[in-house]
Amino acid sequence: MVPQIDVRGCMARKQYAGEAAFEWEEAEALLDLPFVRFSGPVRFSLSYEIGEDGRVDVEGTISFTLTGLCSRCLGETSRTFEEEVRAAFLPRPSEEDYSYRNGKVDLGEFVRDSVLIALPGVLHCESCAQED
Ligand SMILES: [Zn+2]
Repeated sequence: MVPQIDVRGCMARKQYAGEAAFEWEEAEALLDLPFVRFSGPVRFSLSYEIGEDGRVDVEGTISFTLTGLCSRCLGETSRTFEEEVRAAFLPRPSEEDYSYRNGKVDLGEFVRDSVLIALPGVLHCESCAQED
């Protein structure tokens, strides 16, 4: 489940920072590597800060493990990836940042984009990765 950030509610409670940790199970559809799958959900560990103008800055890490066949030697392998992620959400339309409406940040698009950016183009086992 991807949580929402209730910006309006947080501001009403004068709570301008928080954390969100969750798992995302729907990443499989984004994976385009032959004979490779996710072993488990993608884990998000985020913190956020809300500015006076309603800008919400989110940063943290995502991590996931891929299991399958090495793209080079076709040996069975399993590797864990961890990436830092960061984004800003504005309460109005924006070209560069994400935007949100009705006082709530929906992290869905950001979650999907983060996984796409973090996914490797190939999966290499440890010995093939050393040759890269
Ligand atoms: Zn290999």
